[in-house]
Amino acid sequence: MFKATVLTLFPSMFPASLGQSLAGDALSKGIWSLETKDIRDHGIGRHRVVDDRPTGGGPGMIIRADVLSEAIDAVSHSHDTRPRLVMSPRGIPYTQSFAYELSKGHGVAIICGRFEGIDERVIEGRNLIPVSLGDFILSGGEIAAIAILDSIIRLLPGVMGHDQSGNEESFENNLLEYPHYTKPRQFEGQDIPEVLLGGNHQKIATWRKEQAEFITKKMRPDMWKKYQD
Ligand code: SAH
Repeated sequence: MFKATVLTLFPSMFPASLGQSLAGDALSKGIWSLETKDIRDHGIGRHRVVDDRPTGGGPGMIIRADVLSEAIDAVSHSHDTRPRLVMSPRGIPYTQSFAYELSKGHGVAIICGRFEGIDERVIEGRNLIPVSLGDFILSGGEIAAIAILDSIIRLLPGVMGHDQSGNEESFENNLLEYPHYTKPRQFEGQDIPEVLLGGNHQKIATWRKEQAEFITKKMRPDMWKKYQD
């Protein structure tokens, strides 16, 4: 079983979409498990304070190093070798190949920041890998954690109905996927490309490859360059 642990100030934000559809079915089947840890359990004093002002000044509040590290220790066992990710716009960009790598392991622990972020010392002190969902700012790490878990869970054995359906997807081989069509055959004056209706699998494969190359070149010049290398 793939074990996911999420540390958050908002445990009620889980499982959210991970409790539905593919991920939800896999959760009930025991293919993966979800543990949430409320960072506030380790807050200080009667008010369970978790944050304080940034040392050196500046806006917002920072999650305290002692509080967060205690929360991490509370869900870690000595034999726990799962990677620990901390959600951060300053982290390494998350990719499909990272999702694959994580899906081959035993699980993952994900730490969700809030406010202005977390005390930097916890990253080194608890061996956290900062990971970013993209070049934009969310108000908390929870949505990033859900997105990352979703991308891992669909790769776990037995989760996707059709075992092949992962193989042709975007980002495999540095190509975006070709376009899809289904019924009806005519839609508001637009036809389905003729080649897809002919049943010639060789021709269809060639057309799809051309389309994949075209869309990659147009939408993602960065990927197109890697594809050509
Ligand atoms: N002041 C920070 C942003 C804080 S946003 C900065 O400028 O770098 C609050 C929290 O949301 C972060 O601690 C992080 O956990 C989460 N978050 C925001 N944007 C994110 C992104 N692109 N990827 C992953 N997590 C993100």
